[in-house]
Amino acid sequence: MFRRAAINAALGSARAFFSSLNTWRVRKEKHEAKPCKKGKKKLPFRERPPVPPRTWNRSAPFYAGLWEERTGHSIMLKVWTGSCWSWLKIGTLPRDLPQGYALASPSLVCKGNRWWLHTPIEKALETPTKVVEQIAFKQTCLCAVDVNLDQHLAVCTVQTVEGTILATSFIGNGTAIAGFRKRLLGRIARNRSQTGIIAQGEQDNVALWRKIRHLDEHIEHQVSARIIQFAIEQQASILVFEHLGNLRPEKGRYSRRSNLKRAYWMKGRIFKYAKYKAWNAGGIITCRVNPRHTSRQCHRCHAPVIRYNEGEPVEGYTPGAALCLCPQCQMRDHADRNASLRIGQRLIERDQEPLKEKPHARSRRATRGSKDPGVGISQDAEGEGQPSIAQARQGDHTNGPGTAQGGLRRMGMLPSDMATTLRLHFE
Ligand SMILES: [Zn+2]
Repeated sequence: MFRRAAINAALGSARAFFSSLNTWRVRKEKHEAKPCKKGKKKLPFRERPPVPPRTWNRSAPFYAGLWEERTGHSIMLKVWTGSCWSWLKIGTLPRDLPQGYALASPSLVCKGNRWWLHTPIEKALETPTKVVEQIAFKQTCLCAVDVNLDQHLAVCTVQTVEGTILATSFIGNGTAIAGFRKRLLGRIARNRSQTGIIAQGEQDNVALWRKIRHLDEHIEHQVSARIIQFAIEQQASILVFEHLGNLRPEKGRYSRRSNLKRAYWMKGRIFKYAKYKAWNAGGIITCRVNPRHTSRQCHRCHAPVIRYNEGEPVEGYTPGAALCLCPQCQMRDHADRNASLRIGQRLIERDQEPLKEKPHARSRRATRGSKDPGVGISQDAEGEGQPSIAQARQGDHTNGPGTAQGGLRRMGMLPSDMATTLRLHFE
């Protein structure tokens, strides 16, 4: 059984590699077949081909014959004792099985120098309607999220496709978290300055780093969970984020620069966690839109806004200020709320435009594509990055999709050289 699980995992990886190689080839052919634009030099195809993994480490699942009597708090596993196979009863963390979920095969996962037994649960979801089709209905609610580095970690607004704004939620106390993190980073910097050169390959300030890491992860999970909670309350079926901008380096002490970097990473992971949580919460699709000028435009008339802090003169654009005023239509609002409304509108604009007039849309898309490539990557949740439960439940980065249980997959031929490069680390 274990051997079969390992072989299946290897086959799954190999097939995943070949299918991504195929899609890369198709994309390359498409690029080369595309006609050259008038008066412009053709850009070469720069995307790199996928490579097979150099080291390969995968945890194989226990197949049906290897586990038994799984209850809420214990499981029987068949283990090799050194001389024979015997059954061993193991206690697990108790949890109730939510409705509609089925128990799936457990697997042993190695994290650092510890072994974890993952006992996943499974549920088949209906495929949700595509975003373009959902947006054709005027009553569809979408929840747009503006993720920030400062005070409000996430600002969510729910609006219908028609433009009715239904609700807003400000989530997270970013300033307090940044202050706490900065203090810890400052302590690390001070320790480092006192001890001098750090030994190579050795981790310094282990406890402090761990604290920072755990704080960040905790906040990321809390914020993403609250975004989803809000979206469900308001019955939104689409979640919209903006693409990550570049991190602008800032001057200052180590703790300041490092703190900003971590806040930026946090932003990316809030998106990552929200994406799979949304999908698992009943098939909410997550999209990303171009971030260009989302906070500089008015959500009512799209004119450039004045952004200012309370008690300061109302003029110019102060990045990071709390309030905004539109000089054209006199709209006054919280700047982050305005930005999140623009993010939602951008998705609607993007998906409604190509449907109106075909020739017009084509020329428009061509110019837009050359200016901001961010738009090209559309609809994250729709393509291969679909966070199904099968992927999410593995919960470990070393575990890619296609690990096993792929009984439904077609059996394909595996070239012998490919098979030899996949080495099994299996205990
Ligand atoms: Zn305006």
